Amino acid sequence: LVSRQTAPERTVVRVAGVPIGGDHLTLIAGPCAVETPDQALAAARMAKAAGAALLRGGAYKPRTSPYAFQGLGEEGLRVLADVRADTGLPVVTEVVDPRDVELVASYADMLQVGTRNMQNFALLQAVGAARRPVLLKRGMNATIEEWLLAAEYIAERGNLDIVLCERGIRTFEPATRNTLDISAVPVAQRLSHLPVIVDPSHSGGRRDLVLPLSRAAVAVGADGLIVDVHPSPDAALCDGAQALTGADLAELSRTLETLPALL
Ligand code: PEP
Repeated sequence: LVSRQTAPERTVVRVAGVPIGGDHLTLIAGPCAVETPDQALAAARMAKAAGAALLRGGAYKPRTSPYAFQGLGEEGLRVLADVRADTGLPVVTEVVDPRDVELVASYADMLQVGTRNMQNFALLQAVGAARRPVLLKRGMNATIEEWLLAAEYIAERGNLDIVLCERGIRTFEPATRNTLDISAVPVAQRLSHLPVIVDPSHSGGRRDLVLPLSRAAVAVGADGLIVDVHPSPDAALCDGAQALTGADLAELSRTLETLPALL
């Protein structure tokens, strides 16, 4: 179902009317985690000012350590809905448990499946049955074929509104958190008709790499970017080291305006 052979035309996925795929370069931005109403609203306003068409923000955070901030849960979803009402930005947020899919879908415009859950087949089937587009991140240890087969689990349940997201894979290199597999973008686009976006924040794990990796993503033809922003990254409860500040975001926005014309 997700193979290019079944649909020679590239798919455009619409999230509350916002297109991802086709000729569009869609920017999704927002906080890694929703922490407080003020923080989420400030981050969303930064995202919107930079040209983001969709707001990202985690209410359920799958953290490596059980002692790290786990997200606000449903309270975080309510905050995201308020921020959407204020800014007009549709919401992309992660769901980590199949039992929560209905709840998260009642607040969100797009459901995110994170890297750690790419092969959580019960979750894939549950989002496949939900009436919301899905952002499917590549598992950090997954091959491109496994990633596409994970998408197939969602499609097979009747949901073809799937956007693939390359977010870095595990390699031997410790200088970055994960290694952005930039070749995965054109490879997946050749194998599948689904849009493919890039997460330069979670792959590098470092603010100084977000802009260069974003340029690389645009240059290879990614259909969009998803980036973390925070009004005060040093105080962030989650992944502050990779969050863009206002100035970085303005530079990213200039790059996104000018780079495609040079390609
Ligand atoms: C995220 O986008 O909030 C996230 C945790 O990403 P990943 O699943 O790619 O680590």
